[in-house]
Amino acid sequence: MKKKLIILGGGLSGLAAAEKLSLKYDITIIEAAPFLGGLASNFEKDGKFIPRYYHHIIKSNKTTQEYVKNFGEVDSKKLKWQKIKIAIGFKSKLFNISEILGLLKFNYLNLFEKFRFGTFGLYTLFLMNPDNIDENLDAEKWLNKYAGKNVTKKIFHNLYSRNKFNIPLSRISAKQFANRLFEKEIYDYFTFPEGGYQKMIDNLQSKIELSGGKIMLSTKPDSIDLIEKIMKIDGKEIKYDLLINSIPFQEFVPITKGLPEEFKNQILKIKYCPAVSICFATEQFLDKKNYWINLFDERAHIVMQHSILNDTYSEKISWCLRYGGSEEDLELSEEQIKQDYTEVVKKYFPQCKINWVKVMRTKYGEPIYDIDYHKYMPGYKTPIEGLYFTGIQLTHPKIRNMNVALESGVKVAEIVLNDNQ
Ligand SMILES: Cc1cc2nc3c(=O)[nH]c(=O)nc-3n(C[C@H](O)[C@H](O)[C@H](O)COP(=O)(O)OP(=O)(O)OC[C@H]3O[C@@H](n4cnc5c(N)ncnc54)[C@H](O)[C@@H]3O)c2cc1C
Repeated sequence: MKKKLIILGGGLSGLAAAEKLSLKYDITIIEAAPFLGGLASNFEKDGKFIPRYYHHIIKSNKTTQEYVKNFGEVDSKKLKWQKIKIAIGFKSKLFNISEILGLLKFNYLNLFEKFRFGTFGLYTLFLMNPDNIDENLDAEKWLNKYAGKNVTKKIFHNLYSRNKFNIPLSRISAKQFANRLFEKEIYDYFTFPEGGYQKMIDNLQSKIELSGGKIMLSTKPDSIDLIEKIMKIDGKEIKYDLLINSIPFQEFVPITKGLPEEFKNQILKIKYCPAVSICFATEQFLDKKNYWINLFDERAHIVMQHSILNDTYSEKISWCLRYGGSEEDLELSEEQIKQDYTEVVKKYFPQCKINWVKVMRTKYGEPIYDIDYHKYMPGYKTPIEGLYFTGIQLTHPKIRNMNVALESGVKVAEIVLNDNQ
């Protein structure tokens, strides 16, 4: 008899864990949404799959590429890689800061500040080593030292405090921020597989089901007794041997019984930044250049021109998105979000003709990796026998992306196999 293993959450970490464990265990994935893939899921429009959020791959995301190849049936040689251009939008004007000329024209910074900004970029590219940064150092102190106070206030406060987590730079970990810069994300090559990630998710699902695994969609447990190992769903009791949790702790803790008080308080310290966005289609590119546009002092903070990476749809697809402060927008009506976010887009691209708009929102866009995160981040193993964790709650100080989510799924599978031989 195989042991019964329940995986809570059918995002990429849960799916990767399930795929690795499906031959050895009697697996059930329990997923609240009516679809798999979590934050990396997709929706169908005119016969094509579009990601709910932009989801590019960069060259250093080796695990994502491996999954896209093995499960998404994508021929790696056919992936089109490109260097992207980044702009900052301010007072209705765009400045292409990934080009020297654009940076020179960026009148938001004075000449000296441009110099500091430029040299900070070079420092992060060639000299910085995040491993040497103290866990307790905050991003403000670190940036003040290396980029200067003015650049920190004008650029990084907007980019990483207001627009990102909506907490002060002094509460953000310098190590996490440096790791983000160290990945050289914006200097790397970007791609997006034609056809997106739906095939990869479908094939993961098929493999799990062919090995005898079950997948329950649109399902949330009512309660979980972690000591007796009993999960209640729709009033029915399911007895299990092992449980892997990938859902946000704010959702997990309230339905559980048996967590030691201290551990419960520790994991509840993890807070999440929501993400609210519109995905929209236009006849033409907004501009043919900039994939990634950061907006300063606007209601929404990022415009991503997806079709610059994947121009295979009948229209051009983009997102306008807000992370920091988007808890204000989570409960707004779809019409209101469409109106407010479209207004931001129109401010920078007044000529654009929008064909359709779809609202996407999540309460759990990403854990807020604040300066104390390393103190309360739990491990893959927990104090409860048979209970394991996975997902992007556990991957600090790495950037949260599909790559680390998949890796965390693989890692928890290895730990479970090792513990239960
Ligand atoms: C706006 C945005 C843009 C992004 N862009 C990129 C990008 O360009 N490139 C990239 O590589 N990564 C990107 N990411 C990150 C990537 O999506 C995540 O790192 C990854 O998908 C996280 O996987 P996960 O399994 O850890 O979590 P999740 O995907 O959050 O999976 C958790 C699952 O648990 C389910 N769940 C929640 N509560 C319950 C419950 N009570 N019962 C049952 N199930 C429940 C959820 O529905 C979800 O399916 C982006 C994320 C966001 C939000």
